[in-house]
Amino acid sequence: MANAKQDDDFTLTKKDYFAFMVVPPSGRTTYQIRVSKRKLVTGVFLLIFATLFGVAGVSYGAKSTLDKDAYSTLKSKAAEQDKQIERFEERVDAIHNTLKDLLNREEDMSKIIGRQKRRTTNYSRKSKGNLFSQNFSTIGKGEPEVTDRLGQQLDFIQVQIIQTDSTLRSLDRQLAQYKDRFQKTPSIWPVYGTIRSRFGWRIHPKSGNRLFHKGIDIPAWIGAPVKATGDGVIEFAGWGGGYGWLIIINHEYGYRSLYAHLSEIMVNPGRTVTKGQIIGKVGETGITTGPHVHYEIRRWTRAVHPNEYLNLDLFTALTKLW
Ligand SMILES: [Zn+2]
Repeated sequence: MANAKQDDDFTLTKKDYFAFMVVPPSGRTTYQIRVSKRKLVTGVFLLIFATLFGVAGVSYGAKSTLDKDAYSTLKSKAAEQDKQIERFEERVDAIHNTLKDLLNREEDMSKIIGRQKRRTTNYSRKSKGNLFSQNFSTIGKGEPEVTDRLGQQLDFIQVQIIQTDSTLRSLDRQLAQYKDRFQKTPSIWPVYGTIRSRFGWRIHPKSGNRLFHKGIDIPAWIGAPVKATGDGVIEFAGWGGGYGWLIIINHEYGYRSLYAHLSEIMVNPGRTVTKGQIIGKVGETGITTGPHVHYEIRRWTRAVHPNEYLNLDLFTALTKLW
């Protein structure tokens, strides 16, 4: 029965098909279209499916176009971010290199100003900058995220900058102390001229005896200005026997300077004087063969060679005298 139906639609019973009456407008014979129920149902279903798929297809297509746009936006954003990270990496590396140089310079300064003791461990034979650089290269190495590594590197740099700042501050304080000390250290000529009689053993020009000359003699015309060779306090200003009119300045740090055979004294004991200040005038008082300044420097109680204190600079004082 079922087979028969499939084989031939015209054998269908009335129940199995729909009949459509077609009536032409001009009164011509009407005719009938029969469509099997099964075919109609299938057709309707097909139509519905087609419509549904059509709509779905269109909307999917639209959606996938949207996704594509979003994807390409994201992609270009990600690429931009990658570039930014790369630039950050370059900048962090540039900062690291600058800091490395600064640390090496700071170390050089520390060696001079801070008179840093040589470090004894093998570990620190490297320069401070190179050591920093070496440690820097290991920072955040295990981090899977570039940004995390960069963050750790920046933290490391920040700590180093804080340390360097504190080192430089202490160097500044030390430098200020050295400047103060240098200001008080005899470091200029007391009078314009050249040395006639040197420091050391000599035959005294007047007595002919072999005597130790504790200073240097600088000839000049009578009345030429005599300057304090460093900041200090006038410890003595008066008659000094064989020294004639004599001034002694106490410079602290164990230094004293003596100016002898003066014709005039222009300062009183207890007075503070500064380096270069005129304190008296050249003369030939006391035991002398002509107008000159006899200039002595005492370190604690011992007379020292004044020559190295005549044109002294801070660096030389720092590295050779103190
Ligand atoms: Zn002398």
